Amino acid sequence: MKVVRRIADLRLGSADVGLVPTMGALHEGHRALFRAARTENDVVVGSLFVNPAQFDEHADLERYPRDERRDGELASQAGADILFAPTVDEMYPAGFATSVEVLGLSERLEGVSRGGEHFRGVSTVVTKLLGMAQPHVAYFGQKDAQQLVVIRRLVADLNLPVRVQACPTVRERDGLAMSSRNARLAPAERSRAVALSEALRAAAQRAGEGERSAEALLDVALAAMLARDVQPEYLELVDPETLHPCEQLTREALLAVAARVGETRLIDNAILRPSAASTEATQTNYTPHEERLPRKAIA
Ligand code: AMP
Repeated sequence: MKVVRRIADLRLGSADVGLVPTMGALHEGHRALFRAARTENDVVVGSLFVNPAQFDEHADLERYPRDERRDGELASQAGADILFAPTVDEMYPAGFATSVEVLGLSERLEGVSRGGEHFRGVSTVVTKLLGMAQPHVAYFGQKDAQQLVVIRRLVADLNLPVRVQACPTVRERDGLAMSSRNARLAPAERSRAVALSEALRAAAQRAGEGERSAEALLDVALAAMLARDVQPEYLELVDPETLHPCEQLTREALLAVAARVGETRLIDNAILRPSAASTEATQTNYTPHEERLPRKAIA
């Protein structure tokens, strides 16, 4: 695997490129994205960039784990051909003045909690990475469900010639969604952190039993969280495309949650389906977000 630091050195010619954008501190969730990219592309590019523009808390940026050597080894083992690891100056040179903002979608859920800059930072850096690597397919985790919705919108709105591929959330054995931030949890916090996935599972189970009222489903989820002494920052049942709150589970809906466990902020989500349409939610608890755009690669 080659490590590239300069945009000018990312010469990929006409090969079919799969791009996996990451901020490093790679875990099994990232590796699943690389493996998916490996099966579908000639060249797999992983980007490793802790993007200052998307951090709303300076301390979070400072504390973000960085170990390029380890990340390089993991990315290479999972199938990356190129690790693009630019400096902040390479990404944002003097005079940089443009930002990409997806209105509406960016203002809900995480946007309320973290402020508008977060998704502005994400949208801008992803647009730049897509321009630099010019991939046919870009891979993102369902773990960051709102990020996926925002990226799909910007790719459609800006007519970017790339397919956005969602990959299912990879979890620890007890259900906790893998995240670079999990390492910060003290042992007692780690046991409580399972509150988020337990809340999703409780609501999915109740939906599987036939409950359609959002209020009732959210009550069940909230009770599961409070049982672990974890208070949600938000816990919402929303339309998976518009992110508007749903009152009834009449079709697929996204149950999204964020909570702090100690100092560590965690997010998670699940797709719920009304039981008459499918019993999958009760069987798997966590159903992957399905690909919504045509699967064909756009030349
Ligand atoms: P990050 O390095 O946290 O910016 O994440 C890079 C990519 O990995 C994003 O598309 C995330 O959604 C994805 N990702 C992070 N955690 C997981 C996980 N547990 N399962 C699947 N994908 C994940």
